[in-house]
Amino acid sequence: MKTIGHRIAGQPVSGGGRTAPVYDPARGVQTGEVTLASAAEVDEVVKVAVAAAADWGASSLSKRTNMLFRLRELIDSHRKDLAALITSEHGKVLSDAEGEVARGLECVEFACGVSHLLKGSHNAEVSTGVDVHTVLQPVGVVAGITPFNFPVMVPLWMVANALACGNTFILKPSEKDPSPSLLLADLIHEAGFPNGVFNVVQGDVEAVDALLEHPDVDAISFVGSTPVARHIYETGTHAGKRVQALGGAKNHMVVLPDADIDAAADAAINAGYGSAGERCMAISVVVAVGDVADPLVDAIVKRIPDVVIGPGDQASSMMGPLITREHRDRVRSYVENAPAEGARVVADGSTTASSDGFFFGCALLDGVQPGMKAYDDEIFGPVLSVVRVASYDDAVALVNANPYGNGVAVFTRDGGAARRFQREVTVGMVGVNVPVPVPVASHSFGGWKASLFGDHPIYGPEGIRFYTRSKVVTTRWPDPATSTIDLGFPRTS
Ligand code: NAD
Repeated sequence: MKTIGHRIAGQPVSGGGRTAPVYDPARGVQTGEVTLASAAEVDEVVKVAVAAAADWGASSLSKRTNMLFRLRELIDSHRKDLAALITSEHGKVLSDAEGEVARGLECVEFACGVSHLLKGSHNAEVSTGVDVHTVLQPVGVVAGITPFNFPVMVPLWMVANALACGNTFILKPSEKDPSPSLLLADLIHEAGFPNGVFNVVQGDVEAVDALLEHPDVDAISFVGSTPVARHIYETGTHAGKRVQALGGAKNHMVVLPDADIDAAADAAINAGYGSAGERCMAISVVVAVGDVADPLVDAIVKRIPDVVIGPGDQASSMMGPLITREHRDRVRSYVENAPAEGARVVADGSTTASSDGFFFGCALLDGVQPGMKAYDDEIFGPVLSVVRVASYDDAVALVNANPYGNGVAVFTRDGGAARRFQREVTVGMVGVNVPVPVPVASHSFGGWKASLFGDHPIYGPEGIRFYTRSKVVTTRWPDPATSTIDLGFPRTS
């Protein structure tokens, strides 16, 4: 059984004290033990990040760009190693894990353009003999707290831009799948980033609270569930930190009566059951408008037996297990309780995959309504709920009344309806015939309402804004002959 520790200033640090078990979810066995940092250990890491901050913040853009390009090459050549580590602790199938690495790599590629992204602005002669320019400077020490479901991509959403902007970084990964972060740390070290610029501290609530309260942590990026995101935002901002906290989701896929039923059914299967529904952009509610409902439900049900469920490291598997036994049981409870709430269980999630692993099959509930737990809660598993509505207006009202606002999709052949939908819907990321509309790295990622606390979405241009502070410099080079005493408020002339 392996012991999983920290990476501080480029070195492995084993830590002492409390630990948590790490599992192979496909086999249901414990494979490791992750160390959980105490507040005192967090304090040590912060000291390391603070010590590295001044030199790193003053390093040239050319040096940072070179390192980012090297990191890009190293991640590219270690795609399979990173994916294998993800699959071994998260459980998702290898092709999905490689997809995750590829999307994370896009963020490193975006950050390689940092010299363009950090361009300030300049105005000559704003007043007689006076010029003004704006510069973007690093925030300082940034902590990133990440969820279990994307142990490589979500850290890269943060780390690439944060380091490019000249910040030092402390990553606190999920304790459920902590190993990929260590390989990432090794690659960042190998790419030439100086010691202390990137650090990994393993831990749970104690480590997070220590980061939230630490006076030398300047900014916090968080991705995880909504109750924790709200807590992080409120506590972090109360302590005077800059905080972006991305939370949970309940993503709807609205299928209008003119939609291509087969394409919509394929999309519902892929977006609902991909990664066993453990994606913050997974579709969990299919909103069937008008008479599309019966043929759509039939088309989805017909496809469910085609989804091969098994260990993520088997080439034939299309869907792996859930993250823990407890989570699997919680997901199953939504399906078991659905009939009592008035919903119809069309597919119950039963599977022939090994009962040792934390597997749950594809489940489909029909006749779901707001007020039922299956609708109101983020299930975060392979459970699709069908809500039947009479009209386009009812569909939009349903989506907009939901407290979450992460992703949404509309399936239609009507350009006018799609155009109206993307304008009217109160959700941050919208797909038109695209079921999982995760923005590319040159745009930013972020939901609305209870899916994002803070002013800045993550990665892309918003990420650069979050990880920098702007400073405005007003300059005059006076002729000493014109110097005079004048206590009046400065005016332009
Ligand atoms: P989680 O909220 O349980 O944990 C996220 C991180 O917070 C982990 O590092 C964990 O150690 C820490 N944490 C957990 N409880 C805490 C507490 N009480 N106080 C302080 N820190 C705490 O989330 P998860 O189960 O790891 O991930 C799944 C959730 O993340 C889902 O809700 C999913 O929608 C969400 N998610 C959102 C996005 C997004 O971009 N909006 C992306 C991925 C995942």
